[in-house]
Amino acid sequence: MTVPLLDGVPRLGDLDVAGRRVLVRADLNVPLRDGEVADELRVSASLPTLEHLLSRGASVVVCSHLGRPSEFGDPATSLRPVADRLAALLGPPVALSADVAGEDARARAAALQPGEVLLLENLRWEPGETKGDPELAARLAALAELYVDDAFGACHRAHASISGVPGLLHGAAGLLLERELEVLGGLRDEPARPYVAVLGGAKVSDKLIVLERLLERVDVLAVGGAMASTFQLAAGRTVGRSRVEEDRVESVATLVAAARARGVEVLLPDDLVVAAEFASDATPEVVEADAMPEDRMSLDIGPRSAARIAEVVARAGAVFWNGPMGVSEWASFAAGTRTVAEAMASSSAFTVVGGGDSAAAVRSMGLDGAMDHVSTGGGASLELLEGRELPGVEALRTTQRES
Ligand code: ADP
Ligand code: MG
Repeated sequence: MTVPLLDGVPRLGDLDVAGRRVLVRADLNVPLRDGEVADELRVSASLPTLEHLLSRGASVVVCSHLGRPSEFGDPATSLRPVADRLAALLGPPVALSADVAGEDARARAAALQPGEVLLLENLRWEPGETKGDPELAARLAALAELYVDDAFGACHRAHASISGVPGLLHGAAGLLLERELEVLGGLRDEPARPYVAVLGGAKVSDKLIVLERLLERVDVLAVGGAMASTFQLAAGRTVGRSRVEEDRVESVATLVAAARARGVEVLLPDDLVVAAEFASDATPEVVEADAMPEDRMSLDIGPRSAARIAEVVARAGAVFWNGPMGVSEWASFAAGTRTVAEAMASSSAFTVVGGGDSAAAVRSMGLDGAMDHVSTGGGASLELLEGRELPGVEALRTTQRES
């Protein structure tokens, strides 16, 4: 039995924050382009909690990871652009410490006044972050009196800032984390039926375990994206030069057979949009999925397949979508993703989008507002839906309590 997600988790509203210094673990891991924030979803999603704290007279120390730093101080992964974006959206200036939880951070945190904001540099500049190092957790905890976890996108990782700090400070779930757990918890525990999962994106291997668990819960699974090619092989079809994961074909075949035996409808593409090369200006052609030319690769699902998924989505009770149906960054191969996004936007089903690239696609089409929920967490939303306990949530349940 899985515990309802928010059971025993302290909420932001439970904390008396006036005049206190609060460490907020946010997920500001945004894509950068030319030194600027390319998609600010995660920055804007962090605002309500920060505004809540500041308007109640707290001072706030915000921390986050960003990308995959090569070493301490790696300029390409500095949170500078995020500090600028955050300041522009939030109002008050946002100071950025030169280190993560070192001398500069300590001095700046100690000088913070109510209503002021300090952003720490990239948590992953400290190797202890991903190792869940208690020493780093202690240095972070020493920067504040209270802790708020609002980093839904990172709470599936047992990192120092996520699962270490709440053992040392009284912690609570921020507003974003609370909303994510509420929405996704509802989808996990009592989805409206039929419950449809639409999965696409790059790799099957990333998502195989999730798939297995999701297949125990959903009524329909529709597959697209590069992932579909591995399903095609498993179904005995050829895939030309499409991207596939040969070593996963057998697992996928087993998975699909088991799902069908349980009455789950598994939809594979009937037609595909293919090209001769992996390029944005390659010429798109539509082919039948069971007649894939040897010298072509699949870059999107075809119009009939997209329409079939749209139909299923239209009569669904709940829809969870993760992973674009094709290379949606390129206009010629974005139609499948667009059709699915539009079908979700106009469906009366409860619609949830999870995954960085899927969310970005939905936003770039201007359809994010028409979804019931666009999750800020890709991996975290998948792990939650598959029924796994999230270390960040578990840590809040057992957080240090102030008397
Ligand atoms: P999300 O971030 O939403 O979880 P993924 O990261 O799994 O999604 O997958 C997104 C990536 O998958 C995109 O960069 C997209 O270009 C790629 N992709 C989708 N379909 C294909 C395809 N048929 N061939 C190659 N790449 C694809
Ligand atoms: Mg992605």
